[in-house]
Amino acid sequence: MKVLIIGSGGREHSLLKACLKSPLVDEVVAAPGNGGMAAEARCLAVDIEDGAAVLALARQEAAELVIVGPEAPLAVGVADTLREAGIAVYGPGKAGAELEASKAFSKEFMQRHQIPTAGSATFSDYAEALEYLKDKSYPIVIKASGLAAGKGVIIPQNFEDAQRTIHEMLVKNVFGDSGHTVLIEDFMDGEEASIMLMVSGEQYVQLPPSQDHKRVGEGDTGPNTGGMGAYTPAPVVTPEIAEKIRTKIIEPSLKGLKSDGVDYRGTLYVGVMVVKGEPFVVEYNVRFGDPECQILLPLLEDDPIKLMLDCANGTLEPANVKVKDEHAMIVVMAAGGYPGPYGKGDVITFPESIPDNCSIVHAGTKLNDAGEIVTAGGRVLGVVATGPTLQAAADDAYALAKEVKWSDAFFRKDIGWRVLGS
Ligand code: ATP
Repeated sequence: MKVLIIGSGGREHSLLKACLKSPLVDEVVAAPGNGGMAAEARCLAVDIEDGAAVLALARQEAAELVIVGPEAPLAVGVADTLREAGIAVYGPGKAGAELEASKAFSKEFMQRHQIPTAGSATFSDYAEALEYLKDKSYPIVIKASGLAAGKGVIIPQNFEDAQRTIHEMLVKNVFGDSGHTVLIEDFMDGEEASIMLMVSGEQYVQLPPSQDHKRVGEGDTGPNTGGMGAYTPAPVVTPEIAEKIRTKIIEPSLKGLKSDGVDYRGTLYVGVMVVKGEPFVVEYNVRFGDPECQILLPLLEDDPIKLMLDCANGTLEPANVKVKDEHAMIVVMAAGGYPGPYGKGDVITFPESIPDNCSIVHAGTKLNDAGEIVTAGGRVLGVVATGPTLQAAADDAYALAKEVKWSDAFFRKDIGWRVLGS
């Protein structure tokens, strides 16, 4: 089978690595890809949000399965365009992708299907939002409804800061169209976990729970990022919590999609907050988490590409996915300054050999004209290790991270601190 991967981040590099290992895959190509992907497969240029262009590329390459990595092409219906043309695609259509593309829609979906989530109200009018804020307790959560690459959520500690935030979103339009509608949500004080499902209609397989680290600094301080590291399994999801997540969140979500007429085929990522032993949905995403994907795929004993193909074809058998009895960690290495302005074009040096239980997954890298791999983004790459314990995985990931070098590289030193201590 020939597979086309759409995207250029760490998630897509780990999908490509899974294709290279899969006995089902004869050839894999990527568009647009990154420096690490280009070293392992042919990478092609395409505007990933242009459905007609992606379809033309899939046809030209005679791709038999297209795996769409990021949310933006899903939100504009690229998966629908491919599916309507008879191409198997892993990734939901536009209707399913609304769960991520519109926080107002996803809240309404959860309320309608009685899925536990924080209380909230939706506003487009500044005066009405202000009136609502007057009676609330703080901290409170204010979210731009549309896609904002993880930057559209503000947690003001008092009324004055909340007022300033809604003024910026609803009057000054700092988030553009994404912030024309805001959600004001009750603050949930708990611990988060990421639950990733591979879904085909009402059938699904569930990957181990994981936890990512969004803040740039140690001790979860500083501004939010795309994710500075992650580990799995996350012990906050005890068997008892897992059962509650299954009955109160996963099953009603999939039934809800079906009853709303959505034939969902792709990853459903449920961001959960565990508050006093009860799980609540923080958000849905409609693709694998990045960097969670990079640690989940290497832990599967089943071939993830076979599971994706079955989801795409609507032939997924409901079964427990076979997972290695191991732990995994990714430490993301970023360019100095990230998530603010950062430099590009620094040559990266890599160790000569990489241990079998480790891998280096590229994100913001590219091959320069001299054939060197250089930095080309904020999150440059991730170092992944698996091990019999989380400590063993962490030791190996950090040992390898120290061997990957460029002038202003940095990484958090405390990934997994909730389990390992800081
Ligand atoms: P991303 O795509 O980066 O995951 P997002 O922009 O889609 O984020 P959310 O996931 O809804 O936004 O929120 C981002 C973060 O804000 C959450 O991971 C969580 O830490 C915090 N957060 C969101 N809603 C709440 C809430 N009601 N109570 C407490 N914290 C919250």
